[in-house]
Amino acid sequence: MRCIFCGHNDSKVVDSRYLKDTSIRRRRECMICGKRFTTYETVETNPMVVTNVDNVREPFKVEKLTESINYATYCADLSISVEEIVAKIESNLLKLQKQEISTRDIVTVALDVLMEVNAMACLVYYTQHTDCDNFDGIRRFINR
Ligand SMILES: [Zn+2]
Repeated sequence: MRCIFCGHNDSKVVDSRYLKDTSIRRRRECMICGKRFTTYETVETNPMVVTNVDNVREPFKVEKLTESINYATYCADLSISVEEIVAKIESNLLKLQKQEISTRDIVTVALDVLMEVNAMACLVYYTQHTDCDNFDGIRRFINR
């Protein structure tokens, strides 16, 4: 980090303090002039944008996903928490590295994660989030 006083491009960190989970404050000292200054580091995360079936863009809402996973897992005997399931889905969505994800991407990723967690919850989610309203579709899904 370049010194704001003399422009020298080397400084040492004399103190670091976490402000929140994602932010850190560093007290630095210039190696040449010895003056001190403070920098703030934050992790930059690009919020995912979701394109829905009507091509409307909206920011990814974790609350919305949590709600649907809560519903799908309501009667299921889970070995991990809903929050963990949601975090796993969100992380898998980020791994797609797409600027825009579709609601279909979310459903596909959520189904994959739920399939590993609980088959019944997966099925409930499937019937809620696809336009499949017949048993043939469900049977095809179970047998895939
Ligand atoms: Zn300096």
